[in-house]
Amino acid sequence: MTRITLRSAATMLPRVGALALAIGLACAIPASGAGVAAKAAPLAPLAGMVVAKTAAEVPSRGGATLAPQAAGSLDGRVVVVDPGHNGVYRKAVNTKLVPAGGGKKKACNSSGTATNAGFSEHRFNWKVAKLLAGELRSRGATVVLTRPDDKGTGPCVNERAAIGNRAAADLLVSIHADGSYTKSARGFHLIISTTMKGGDGVEDTSRAMAKKLRASIEEQTAMPRSTYIGGGTALSPRSDIAGLNLSKVPGVMLEAGNMRNAKDAALLTSIPFRVALADALADGVEEALA
Ligand code: ZN
Repeated sequence: MTRITLRSAATMLPRVGALALAIGLACAIPASGAGVAAKAAPLAPLAGMVVAKTAAEVPSRGGATLAPQAAGSLDGRVVVVDPGHNGVYRKAVNTKLVPAGGGKKKACNSSGTATNAGFSEHRFNWKVAKLLAGELRSRGATVVLTRPDDKGTGPCVNERAAIGNRAAADLLVSIHADGSYTKSARGFHLIISTTMKGGDGVEDTSRAMAKKLRASIEEQTAMPRSTYIGGGTALSPRSDIAGLNLSKVPGVMLEAGNMRNAKDAALLTSIPFRVALADALADGVEEALA
């Protein structure tokens, strides 16, 4: 479905720094295969990718920068797209503690969830992130991916925030899917931090951005608002998400659906849904930054 961009409304949004996709540990329920390296099929390299030297570290630091592929409405913008979690599970990574904001500590990363049939969250996150990166680049944006592939271990959650800060991104978007074992629980929600390093202004911009993403997801995909988080708003303010707490730039974390719910899983594993979701996210980003 084609979406009409509401530029007049978008211009009312305050512009703050860069766009960062949020990074977090929201998907607390581990995949059934946690502890086993994911069997991800080879994925084609992204054209024009420049991987930071430090990305070879385990866990890595840095990020992969992707240049724009065309001129467009996002010319000059930098968007951090964070595919949540890692391509493989390593206990040492998941038990290492890192700063999470507010003097608290959190695990470097977590294993993420999966559908009951075994389609992993990290793979879903990567696929959507890759589609979103392509959309944003085709509209003029420079995209920084927090991990360059779906094979190894990516940066710790605090470093994923730092990537957006260093890039002075206009926005940070973290891609996740949830794993609630309550069978009836379904739908998407957007997590925003109530204690961002960027302060009140960045938190306000992040909330406004979340509402734009919510609208575009509702308009352009079949995924409903969450029935179990956010009281019907599909918004979830939290203070325990390191990747958002430590961000100086506006950021949100998407939980695209409940992987353990049959209806949601059918969508999340569908290519047309993922394409529609990526388009919706790109439209929401475009409106937020217009
Ligand atoms: Zn997750």
